[in-house]
Amino acid sequence: MFDRYNRHITYLRISVTDRCNLRCTYCMPEGGIQLLKKKEILTLEEIAEVVKTGAELGIKKIRLTGGEPLVRQGIVDLVEMINRIDAIEEITMTTNGILLSKYAQQLKAAGLNRINISLDSVIPEKFRDITRGGNLNDVFEGIQAAKSAGLTPIKINVVRLANQDDQEIDLVKKFATEQGLQVRFITQMDLKSGEFSQVEGGEGGNCSICNRLRLTANGMIKPCLFSNKEYSIRDLGIREAFTQALNSKPKRGVMNSNNSFYNIGG
Ligand code: SF4
Repeated sequence: MFDRYNRHITYLRISVTDRCNLRCTYCMPEGGIQLLKKKEILTLEEIAEVVKTGAELGIKKIRLTGGEPLVRQGIVDLVEMINRIDAIEEITMTTNGILLSKYAQQLKAAGLNRINISLDSVIPEKFRDITRGGNLNDVFEGIQAAKSAGLTPIKINVVRLANQDDQEIDLVKKFATEQGLQVRFITQMDLKSGEFSQVEGGEGGNCSICNRLRLTANGMIKPCLFSNKEYSIRDLGIREAFTQALNSKPKRGVMNSNNSFYNIGG
């Protein structure tokens, strides 16, 4: 499918939950968040139905995000359900890696092609501070498990934080080179103020060639990360929600006061 600016939309990013097992300082407020009620969150079957309709409309690539997708019950079953949809050429996931050593083999067997892992520091104390308590070793074990499972190429997503020095960034680059991982740097974004820039080493944030739509955990199809526009699949029906989202996709992102990163998956 093509939008009004003749951009070829083939990519759907799906937030499968607003829950997470970390509390990253740039994503989650200290005091926690107002979680979606269970009945507000799409069932696995509803998500698969959205992907099926999206595939009929031209979606070819799926990325599963969160919150943290690996805390969603049945996540392996969901990958299997999506993998059965012929027109979908690639299934990827963005995870914080904490639970990855437990799921890597199952995800690969279910049809996951490759994985991005969020890793903002390779200094244990700094990692623990940024994630408010995360254990860096869990992520390292997750990376090894993803490699063994063949979820490659593995990409590391690094959020460039204002107070991070270059030496720390260099340590992440060195680690990635040693481990044969690709690195992408994401300058800290602000949905409310509309501050964002292109992802270094990726395509995100380049509005002129934007190829994506998003599905939130509570069933909204969003034309753009930096827009308040969203269309409910439960109210409008899946096809109509896709159509309205596509037709209202902005030329360039502006700002988003409706969502937070933990419920839209970046
Ligand atoms: S800001 Fe919106 S239009 Fe720009 S790249 Fe992101 S999703 Fe696409």
